[in-house]
Amino acid sequence: MSNATEVLHSIPFDPLTGAISVPIYQTSTFVQDAPGENKGYDYARTGNPTRSALEQLIAKLENGSTGIAFGSGLAAIDAVVKLLSSGDEILAVDDIYGGAFRLFTHVYEKLGIKVNYTDTTRIENVVDAITPATKLIWIETPTNPTLKISDIKAIAAIAKANNCLLCVDNTFASPILQQPLELGADLVVHSATKYLGGHSDSIAGLVVAKEQVIGDKIKFIQNASGAILSPFDSWLIIRGIETLPLRIKQHCANAQAIAEFLIEQPEVESVYYPGLVSHFNHEIAKKQSKGFGGIISFSLKEDTIEAAKTFVTSTQYFKLAESLGGVKSLLCHPATMTHKSTPADVRQAAGVRDGLIRLSVGIEEVEDLIQDLKQALEKVALSQKSKVQVAAV
Ligand SMILES: *Cc1c(COP(=O)(O)O)cnc(C)c1O
Repeated sequence: MSNATEVLHSIPFDPLTGAISVPIYQTSTFVQDAPGENKGYDYARTGNPTRSALEQLIAKLENGSTGIAFGSGLAAIDAVVKLLSSGDEILAVDDIYGGAFRLFTHVYEKLGIKVNYTDTTRIENVVDAITPATKLIWIETPTNPTLKISDIKAIAAIAKANNCLLCVDNTFASPILQQPLELGADLVVHSATKYLGGHSDSIAGLVVAKEQVIGDKIKFIQNASGAILSPFDSWLIIRGIETLPLRIKQHCANAQAIAEFLIEQPEVESVYYPGLVSHFNHEIAKKQSKGFGGIISFSLKEDTIEAAKTFVTSTQYFKLAESLGGVKSLLCHPATMTHKSTPADVRQAAGVRDGLIRLSVGIEEVEDLIQDLKQALEKVALSQKSKVQVAAV
């Protein structure tokens, strides 16, 4: 489901009072008529009506059987990994979100779950890297920060043939643009902190399972481990989703115009955006998603931390901050921010050069955003020029 009418009218009004906004059930427990006789809820870790409304909504958006809402995107990822047992292996995209890498490496490897990484943008790599112990394939598409695209349908077929699950982190695309379960994936996770919430005001995570049996297992894990989303944050994410189709439209239009502007600029070396025909796997992106999203990365010709710092401190509308997917534009410098703890050689091999900048394009007027980037690029050019002059003196 990606249609604004459908999204808005999938959010139920309160049957008890008619309240058009889903009520926030700020309660820990529910009064029972007799032991075990209740109105569908007994304790709010196990279930809460506000959270249930969000869970049903995301299940619908992703065309899955079950939605489960967590206290963060990482808690959602953690619950999926808990489907595995010691001795099982995960095959993951090499350009994976840093927090997922940290969780896999520093929490799960010592519990006996091995993780192999490969560049999943080439299907033959997935075939080569899979082992008899692989129980879960983990991909993000597009990836962060270099916007790599993997073929969900082709990877789903490999997963099926090898009797393992495919989970897609769909945070960057959102269900408006891409529905991995429709393409054969078994599970989808979201950092709802990003586009679903959309206003940079909440931390939340979601899992959607295609099959009920797997959804029930995740629900069991959530109730056993306890990483639930609060009623208020559930309400914030529902409210965010109401404008998701509209926002995504604007994010995509703005990002496309900005990517096309950036490739023309003399200070820019390369632009990573799946909506550019020059993007490796642009055709796959076009085939499996309805749009190319709001995230762009680009590298400066002057490939230094200094030049990147000049750029990221010169913009007015693009605010320097981690995170993405909000209505206001943000930018970040992966080499010194999100990828700070990655060794320099590993980082550079993954395409995260010193001069790489990531934009989360907001929903402002695109002319204002382009002007903002233009004047920041001019500052980079100017500081370059003055450095050359000093050297000449
Ligand atoms: C932010 C992010 C996460 C983690 O989500 P949190 O809500 O910050 O825990 C996972 N995957 C991707 C792709 C992200 O961008």
